[in-house]
Amino acid sequence: MATQEDNLKDIIGHAKEYGFVFPSSEIYDGLSATYDYGQLGSELKNNIKEYWWKAMVHMHENIVGIDAAIFMEPTTWKASGHVDAFNDPLIDNKDSKKRYRADVLIEEHIEKIKQKNDKEVEKGKKRFGDSFDEEQFRATNPNILRRVEEIKSIEARMKESLEKEDLVAVKELIEELGIVCPLSGSKNWTDVKQFNLMFSTELGSVSGESAKIYLRPETAQGIFVNYLNVQKSGRMKIPFGIAQIGKAFRNEIVARQFIFRMREFEQMEMQFFVRPGEEMKWYDYWKEFRMNWHKSLGLGDDKYRFHDHLKLAHYANAAADIEFNFPMGFKELEGIHSRTDFDLKQHEEFSGKKLRYFDPEINESYIPFVVETSIGLDRMFLAVLASSYNEETLEDGSQRTVLSIPPALSPYKVAVMPLTKKDGLPEKAREIIDGLKLDFNCQYDEKDSIGKRYRRQDAIGTPFSVTVDHQTLEDNTVTIRDRDTMEQERVSVDQLEKIIGEKVSMKKLLIKDAVAG
Ligand code: ATP
Repeated sequence: MATQEDNLKDIIGHAKEYGFVFPSSEIYDGLSATYDYGQLGSELKNNIKEYWWKAMVHMHENIVGIDAAIFMEPTTWKASGHVDAFNDPLIDNKDSKKRYRADVLIEEHIEKIKQKNDKEVEKGKKRFGDSFDEEQFRATNPNILRRVEEIKSIEARMKESLEKEDLVAVKELIEELGIVCPLSGSKNWTDVKQFNLMFSTELGSVSGESAKIYLRPETAQGIFVNYLNVQKSGRMKIPFGIAQIGKAFRNEIVARQFIFRMREFEQMEMQFFVRPGEEMKWYDYWKEFRMNWHKSLGLGDDKYRFHDHLKLAHYANAAADIEFNFPMGFKELEGIHSRTDFDLKQHEEFSGKKLRYFDPEINESYIPFVVETSIGLDRMFLAVLASSYNEETLEDGSQRTVLSIPPALSPYKVAVMPLTKKDGLPEKAREIIDGLKLDFNCQYDEKDSIGKRYRRQDAIGTPFSVTVDHQTLEDNTVTIRDRDTMEQERVSVDQLEKIIGEKVSMKKLLIKDAVAG
């Protein structure tokens, strides 16, 4: 049976073969955790961005978008807490020279214990057959109960040591648990150190420490420092939101799992400024809206779940992740956070500038509270790609690989193919493309048999293929084939725009997103 890792490998291979994602600077053997989007990947990425931007900005009259610089005055990152606290605990194995996140090593150890319990359950299932009651088995089996206690104790110790920043205790825990380096198999560990995840560089115009600037680790701060500029120039009234799509950089210690965790990635964030005390209402609104946005795409409602944060960051009063069932299991795709007035207060203090809003309705000045939605574009890309990738066995026993990408997001909307390369068919196909390309991204394809061409379009997720044959020259009709049903229909060229338009329209998704009531 294909494992989840095999599935991810297949997706990575497919993404490279068809021009979605390439390893960065591959001719030099690549740079770890950095990827380039190819000709089809860029189209898919742009379509995801468009769907997000339209749903967040165009569909909300009180939300506007900006595009702030990646570099910011470095005090920004003092104020936001990133200089002092944007750290991960790292540990090196002295034999393999490999670097790990200490907390991840411990979490992986816990995962192994959980897997032992799952195996115990499998054994129970085999032994008891139909009468097996998993819940009861988990609640009574002594081996399982012992391991559950063990997990609880490890989690409690890890949480306490990390909260107290007691890195010696973290190392002791790793040693006590007998965790070995997966590469060298040795327990020869260095001490645990805090590692700041921000990349820094230097400004050319100044020397010394003051020249140090950072590549932004999140896009949010560009919005916070501009919130009054936008409010005043856009005559915005609270509640209002500012959205942005842009690059962020994090020097991740453990960067793997393809584009899920990269050192350079893209975020789509929206900060929503509200009256203090009204944040929970908006927090609930945005949780629901964002979940609807995902589900409208039709990747499968069971692929998403909320994970409410029990332990909150010091500035948050509520936080939840939308997790997606990636090939590696359920993982964070998006975060929705109620950040209170923490960031704006900090910027007021560090900049000495008033960042208050005068609320004419209640005749009061205050620092607004903020509810944010923050999604990784690359993770969204992986979610779409992974859930669209299907290897199918057809009725006639043949195989096809199809990317069932939601049509509104597909790189190409239609491929137009002349049956043969002669008799004026290529010219007719190009004439049809000339009519369609104003609305849709079209591909012309004349190489190989029609069957092979259909397979190629299936593999890149093109919703429609249109074939031009000799009859087309006589009566201006073509065959249009649907990627998903594989059904073919003879239609007039004049109908193509409508048929394609209906299926690939983003409108339907945007209408579905709206939160009921
Ligand atoms: P994680 O716990 O997975 O590291 P995070 O909680 O640090 O993520 P946030 O700071 O909340 O992430 O960032 C918001 C979103 O940005 C995440 O939900 C994720 O989609 C995306 N993101 C964060 N780090 C990365 C990364 N290294 N590569 C790709 N996307 C990322």
